[in-house]
Amino acid sequence: MLGLMQSQPLLISSLIEFAERHHGDGEIVSRRVEGDIHRYTYRDLAARSRQLANALDKQGLAFSDRVATLAWNGYRHMEMYFGVSGSGRVLHTINPRLHPEQIAWIINHAEDQVLCFDMSFLPLVQAVHAKCPTVKKWVALCDAEKLPADTGVPGLASYEAWIAPQSAEYAWPQFDENTASSMCYTSGTTGNPKAALYSHRSTTLHAYAAALPDVMCLSARDAVLPVVPMFHVNAWGIPYSAALTGCKVVFPGPAMDGKSIYELIEAEKVTYAAGVPTVWQMMLGHMKPAGLKFSTLKRTVIGGSACPPAMITAFQDDFGVEVLHAWGMTEMSPLGTLCTLKNKQLDLSKDEQMKIRQKQGRAIFGVDMKIVDGNGDELPWDGKSYGDLLVRGPWILDTYYKGESPLIQDAQGRGWFPTGDVATIDSNGFMQITDRSKDVIKSGGEWISSIDIENIAMAHPAVAMAACIGMPHPKWDERPIVAVTLKPGAEVTREELLQFFEGKTAKWQIPDDVVFVEAIPLGATGKMLKTRLREQLKDYRLPGL
Ligand code: AMP
Repeated sequence: MLGLMQSQPLLISSLIEFAERHHGDGEIVSRRVEGDIHRYTYRDLAARSRQLANALDKQGLAFSDRVATLAWNGYRHMEMYFGVSGSGRVLHTINPRLHPEQIAWIINHAEDQVLCFDMSFLPLVQAVHAKCPTVKKWVALCDAEKLPADTGVPGLASYEAWIAPQSAEYAWPQFDENTASSMCYTSGTTGNPKAALYSHRSTTLHAYAAALPDVMCLSARDAVLPVVPMFHVNAWGIPYSAALTGCKVVFPGPAMDGKSIYELIEAEKVTYAAGVPTVWQMMLGHMKPAGLKFSTLKRTVIGGSACPPAMITAFQDDFGVEVLHAWGMTEMSPLGTLCTLKNKQLDLSKDEQMKIRQKQGRAIFGVDMKIVDGNGDELPWDGKSYGDLLVRGPWILDTYYKGESPLIQDAQGRGWFPTGDVATIDSNGFMQITDRSKDVIKSGGEWISSIDIENIAMAHPAVAMAACIGMPHPKWDERPIVAVTLKPGAEVTREELLQFFEGKTAKWQIPDDVVFVEAIPLGATGKMLKTRLREQLKDYRLPGL
């Protein structure tokens, strides 16, 4: 027997419809690329999202066609979240920090039809547009008068001129909630990036869950500043949860330095912020010497990389701000665990609580997790046994876009997503990442594929073998170095080899150092043993530290 309740599909358009009807006057504040502060309301956001939907219809875009962005956090980007997905197209947020070659590859792989970009990225668009034959419309997210006369980008339109003639009336289409809504590429461990393709259902369920008290605890009383970029897993879903809760949203635009973020938090009375540890490192670095304090900030969710314990303490003791340590992945929409204490832990000593707060936290309803040994057998939740972390749930990836399913089947035939993280889980369900089995380095919250770095190094005629590993760094969390062996009789200096990387990968992905070694340790199957290499280089320090 089926239940007799209504069965409206869970669609992203329902979030913006709800926002307009129930908290239409809620504020959305953005620092623009132009440098000024822009303010409007959810009501304006909803109307302009509909104008955008009409512009996409007029453009002749079909259902599920991809519309890409190269954009900072701002109101026009948020309009695209709702206008593109709400009208049945797929929003493809591109990470502008990638190398132009990789961006062109991603655009072609996604077959993007329209690409909207902030003017900061005009040079990037000028560099890639000729290599992107699928894109039939380039749109600059600016006023018509801000568009330079001759950009070299054929048919370039201003976003404002594009949507201005469109009606703000639009009936959001109703369709299957499993329809694709947005996509985000993540640098895989090998070769080209892979895309997670989110659905309306996964996004809406994630938006509900993210707002829960033990998750991000978002409400209509909050003013939320997502520093985490809208091009990185939809700013952890905050734009959707914001529409659902009616919180005030404050977007930092391109000004991501500590001083600008601090000033925006104070000026807009922000109560809640979210970002990777590097951002907060910069902000605390700005605040501490100047003796600055927060007037309104109460909570900050920190994730994307391990949050250093000293940062949790500094926020708590020096600034009275609660840190919520979070863990997730692009493939997980992204939230998996959040670290909030349980009732029985509230009477523990500060030190005992601190030990818990350093962990990545407890699973959110909607995410099941387990740790397994090399045979795939589940390990106990004793806080000591560590193993590969696997997850499953309705907002977790099943199959990569145009790719394969990485899922591992259990005895009951249920698929588990292997995270590439190694973790412990304690008896209270708190997960702690202890290592990473995937061959990638995370610097300032962004991936560097060690395999890409090794491939470039090995393309140098003097290099016989190269192994790239991450080294701890106080600001960036990790920075890559490359250990190399040279071919017999060949010579190359550290500087020459570093120079060799120029133009072949994004500047920030170039290793900080080259270490010449006699041999790179290999395992029985001939695979590089990076754990052994790390042991060999345990006394190594990055230049300048
Ligand atoms: P991404 O797909 O770029 O969001 O990266 C996801 C990966 O970042 C995870 O699989 C972890 O390796 C790492 N990561 C994310 N959050 C944390 C955290 N709080 N602590 C340690 N590593 C993290």
